[in-house]
Amino acid sequence: MEIDGIDCVSTSDGIYEEEIHHQHRHRLQFSASSAKPTTNNAVSPAISPATSVHELLECSVCTNSMYPPIHQCLNGHTLCSTCKLRVNNRCPTCRHELGDIRCLALEKVAESLELPCKYCSLGCMEIFPYYSKLKHEVQCNFRPYNCPYAGSECPVVGDIPFLIDHLRNDHKVDMHTGSTFNHRYVKSNPREVENATWMLTVFFCFGHYFCLHFEAFQLGMAPVYIAFLRFMGDEVEAGNFSYSLEVGANGRKLTWEGTPRSIRDSHRKVRDSHDGLIIQRNMALFFSGGDRKELKLRVTGRIWKEQPNSDAGVYIPNLCI
Ligand SMILES: [Zn+2]
Ligand SMILES: [Zn+2]
Ligand SMILES: [Zn+2]
Ligand SMILES: [Zn+2]
Repeated sequence: MEIDGIDCVSTSDGIYEEEIHHQHRHRLQFSASSAKPTTNNAVSPAISPATSVHELLECSVCTNSMYPPIHQCLNGHTLCSTCKLRVNNRCPTCRHELGDIRCLALEKVAESLELPCKYCSLGCMEIFPYYSKLKHEVQCNFRPYNCPYAGSECPVVGDIPFLIDHLRNDHKVDMHTGSTFNHRYVKSNPREVENATWMLTVFFCFGHYFCLHFEAFQLGMAPVYIAFLRFMGDEVEAGNFSYSLEVGANGRKLTWEGTPRSIRDSHRKVRDSHDGLIIQRNMALFFSGGDRKELKLRVTGRIWKEQPNSDAGVYIPNLCI
C-alpha cells in the first residue's frame, strides 16, 4: 500500500512537471532532472511566481542577467561581477563595504534553471539551461536583424517584415518587385562623394527581399564605386540565390556575378571585403559620358534562384554513405 502510494506520488510528480513544462514553455522553469521530490517541495513556493527568480538573477545595478561569480554584500544584496568592479567596493544598495563574498546559493539556483530563448516571440522554441542560454542567443537564428540602411548608424532591429515596414516608412527606401532591375545613379559633383553613402533600393522576388547598395568609397588611394546585393535573411538562405550586375556605355561594360550576402554581415563589412561590382572613378566617369562633371551610371542586374540539385550537392550524400 505504502509502496503503491510512493509510486503513485512519483508518477503524478512526473505528470505535474510535464504540465509545468508545457504551461511555462515561454516562461521560467526548473529542469525536471534537478527537481528531486524533497527539494521540489521546498523550492516550489519560492518559484511559483516565475518572474521572481528571474528578478533575483537580475543585477540590481545594470539589470543584466547575472552569471558566476555572483557577488553579494554582508547584507545579502547581490550584484554582477562587472558591476562589482565599478562600484568601488561599496554596495550600491546599502552603501556597506562589499568585500569578496560569492553568492553560491544563487549561482546554484541559476544552474538549475531552464529558460526559453529570449527570441521566443520571434519564433525560437528552444529551451536552455541558464548558463548556456546566452551563448545560444548570440547565434540564435531567430535573433533580430539590424536595419540594413547604410546611410546612418540606424539602431533599429527587428525581424524582416518589421524592417521592411521600417525601411519604407522611416527611410523612404525605394521598393521594387521583380528579379531584374535597371537603375540610374546620378550625382552632379562626383568629386565630393568619397565615402558618401547612396540610396538603398529594395527588391522583392522569390518571396524574399534583397538590398541593392551603391556607394562611393576610397580603395587604397583610388576613389571607386561599389554596387552589391544583400539578402534579407540568414547566410544559409542567401546561398540559394545568385545575382549579376552590369554597368557600361560606349561599347564597354563591366559585369559582376556573385552570391548576395546576408544582412547579418554589415554593409560596411561587405563593402570592405570588395564583394561586389567595383567601378574605378575614371571608368565611371567614362561610362557617364558628357564632360566628366557628372556621374550618370546605369546599373542593370538580375537575381535568380540556384537550382538546389544543379551541382555536386546531390552526390555528396551518396559519397558519405
Ligand atoms: Zn551588473
Ligand atoms: Zn548591501
Ligand atoms: Zn533562440
Ligand atoms: Zn533604419
